[in-house]
Amino acid sequence: MNPKIVLHDHLDGGVRPATVIDLANEAGVGLPTDDADELARWFTIVPGMSIEAAWQRFYLVIGVLQTEHGLHRVAREAVEDLAADGVIYAESRFAPLGHLAGGLSADEVMAAVISGLAEGERATGCVARTIVCGIREDHPSQSVDAAELAVAWKGRGVVGFDLAGNEFEFGADSHAEAFAVARSGGLGVTVHAGEMAGPESIATALTAAHPSRIGHGLHLIDDCEVVDDRIAKLGRVASKVHDAGLMLEVCVTSNSCLGTPVVDHPVRMYRDAGFALSVNPDDRAITTTTVANEYELWRSCHGFTNSEFRDVNLQAVEAAFCDEVTKARLRGVVEAGW
Ligand SMILES: [Zn+2]
Repeated sequence: MNPKIVLHDHLDGGVRPATVIDLANEAGVGLPTDDADELARWFTIVPGMSIEAAWQRFYLVIGVLQTEHGLHRVAREAVEDLAADGVIYAESRFAPLGHLAGGLSADEVMAAVISGLAEGERATGCVARTIVCGIREDHPSQSVDAAELAVAWKGRGVVGFDLAGNEFEFGADSHAEAFAVARSGGLGVTVHAGEMAGPESIATALTAAHPSRIGHGLHLIDDCEVVDDRIAKLGRVASKVHDAGLMLEVCVTSNSCLGTPVVDHPVRMYRDAGFALSVNPDDRAITTTTVANEYELWRSCHGFTNSEFRDVNLQAVEAAFCDEVTKARLRGVVEAGW
């Protein structure tokens, strides 16, 4: 199997439906159905679904993920599922402060997830690191807390900080302090931007976060002049992203769930215009996809070749938040494997 690098994968968005059922039964939480296949279908966000209905899926999973053994289990299973698709390095992200309702401390949450990822790594050989997420709609002091927690766990599995959540209503600017904490603590910084909102949201995120990567960047295309399905001219924000070589963590299935069909995704235009890209699943369970499926979509809908996938994975290695020794090893595996 070709070796793959995954930089954008949500722990809570990728929980196996059968595991959600087990954890919900333990917690005495009711589910829409007790059948794993039906639950998988119910989970899938579809175009036109309200943002509230979409987030209800995450809240349900997060609601049952409030114990150490539950967090440990889903972290281990995430690595197993990624490794089964040929993933050799993954950065798994989640918002630890969402898992305190059952009485766990933030450090207990981190320890449970990181030990689960480490167990998955030992079992599969897929290197698994963690990105801590702040949430846009939370009070900025909470994202500062999340960033401080992430810095405290640097060197013990945490490699980066991200801001996720409702991009429509909550700008990244109010979370600038959290990003500053993460950067000065030596963490890599990425930010969800241009997923739901347009170029101005990306511009705000660039100023607030000074990221080296952008989650999605789908609507960066709105800042580009397109002629005959090619980018003819970059606008101000798109130029900034392009010229700084900021990696776009592309998630085509996830974007299709929010209304942009995969065939209409600008990923081919981005590639031809020289943007740095990586292939990512975002929320494997909640959008019903796999890493292998994402590659298949890039191939069948946008004509990506193995030589382009080799390139894209080498770019992903460069943009990964892990140490240089790990990167050198990953580079060798990617070069030999495509
Ligand atoms: Zn995401």
